[in-house]
Parts: sequence; structure tokens; C-alpha cells
Amino acid sequence: MSFSQERREELRINLEAAQQAVKSASEDFSQVRDPQSPLPRLTVVTKFFPSSDVEALYSLGVRHVGENRDQEASAKATELAEITDAQDPLQWSYIGQLQTNKAKSVVKYAAEVHSIDRISLAQALAKAYSLQVTRWESEEAPAPFAAVRGGLKCLVQVSLEDHDRSTAGHAAEGKRGGAKLDDLLKIADMLNSSAGLECSGVMAVAPLGMNPDAAFEKLYNISQKLREHHPSAQEISAGMSGDLEAAIRWGSTNVRIGSKIMGARPTA
Ligand SMILES: *Cc1c(COP(=O)(O)O)cnc(C)c1O
Repeated sequence: MSFSQERREELRINLEAAQQAVKSASEDFSQVRDPQSPLPRLTVVTKFFPSSDVEALYSLGVRHVGENRDQEASAKATELAEITDAQDPLQWSYIGQLQTNKAKSVVKYAAEVHSIDRISLAQALAKAYSLQVTRWESEEAPAPFAAVRGGLKCLVQVSLEDHDRSTAGHAAEGKRGGAKLDDLLKIADMLNSSAGLECSGVMAVAPLGMNPDAAFEKLYNISQKLREHHPSAQEISAGMSGDLEAAIRWGSTNVRIGSKIMGARPTA
């Protein structure tokens, strides 16, 4: 074990507090939740923090972690191959901006990709995934993580900005972007017609300066529209350390919590 007991204890306390915050927020039925709604899943965002922290989280029962840079995620997944290949594996969600040329790498280790914001990226992921499966079947390469676990879960990142202020591909430029509604349906069709990929739902980041309840209400409505066409696309990946309550009120099925558990990120 490469983590210190002291760090593990710190993470344990923060994790417990975050789980409690998710639970309390889930008891708020003022918007779209009701007593039958399942508890949202907690994905711990480990970007900028070392693999030893991820290992400590795994020892505390965490099975879903999120990363936003391929190079870092790929290195950590390799380093932590033992728990990524375990019977009860650690599962990596890719949640950041992604260049199409990185799709080849991401499909190797990702269980989920939450940040698909344009058709060209959906196509690149589909192509990279099927190529990796072919190489695996001819015993030239290991299986993509998702291939032996039911397929790659894909979420479309949507823009919650007002109209013209966002364009597809903004996420790829490091801004809080995402797809618009028309593109969302095209991307979902594309994903669902690709072998091994499945459009599981939507993801968004609340725009800076926008009221989080207004933002997540909008996301909920977008999710409903998607579900008219793709009933199984039920996931809503929404809510971070600062706005998880609003996201949960509006039906988040997966919160992505970083700093509240890991501590402040070093500024890049
Ligand atoms: C970093 C990040 C998070 C976690 O943010 P915190 O405010 O630290 O909880 C969630 N989602 C995405 C897309 C991120 O990049």
C-alpha cells in the first residue's frame, strides 16, 4: 500500500461527509425526486491527485472515479491495473474535454465517457472502440475495459448556456460547452447505432453565473426530451462539490465530487 493511514483517514472523513450530503439532498422532494427515486451515485473526481489517493479510496469502498485528462487517467489506470482488473473493479469515468485523437487511448481504460459533445467525437470513440475489440479478438491487444463489462456507457455533454453563447466543441477548447439539443439527438442516434456503445444519458456543468436550480431544471427537461427518443438513456450526470443539492433536486443520477472529498486542487 502506497498511501499513508493519515491520508486515508482524511479521505474517509470527507467521503463520509459527501455521502451524507448526497443522502440529505436526496430527501428533498420539492422538485422532480420522489421517495421512490434511487439515491444518486457518487463519482469521486480524482484529477490532479496521485494514484495512491485513488488506491486509498478503493480501500474505502469507492468504485467510480472521474478524470478529465487522458494522459493522467491513462497513467493512473495502468498504475492501478490490479484494482482496475479486480473482480469488483475500480471504474474510470472520463469527464473532461476530449480531442478525437485521444479516443484510441480512452476506450482502453474507460467504463464511461461523460463528455461527448459533438458527432465527430462520438464517431471517433465508436471507431476506436471497435478497432480495439478487433485487436483483442485477434489477440494483439488487451480487451477494452468496457468490452468485458457490458459495453461503453456514453453520456452526451449538453450546453446549458443561453442560445448563441455556446457552440459545439467549446468543451474541447476548455470552456464549459456542450452539444445543443439538435446535436444531442444526432449524437445519441450515432452512439446507439455503434457496436459496444450505448447512449446512457446526459451530462452538464452549470454555467458560471447561472442559478444552479435554473441550470439543472433545464438539464432535466433536456433529459426528458432525449428519453422520448431513447427511453433507456436515463442517466443525468450533474452536480459538483458546490452545487450537488440543486442537481439532486432536479434528478441527478450521478454526482461528480472532487474538492469536497480530495481537498483543494493545486492550481495548474
Ligand atoms: C473537476 C470536475 C468536477 C469536480 O469538481 P469539484 O468542484 O471539485 O467537485 C466535476 N465535473 C467535472 C466535469 C470536472 O471537470
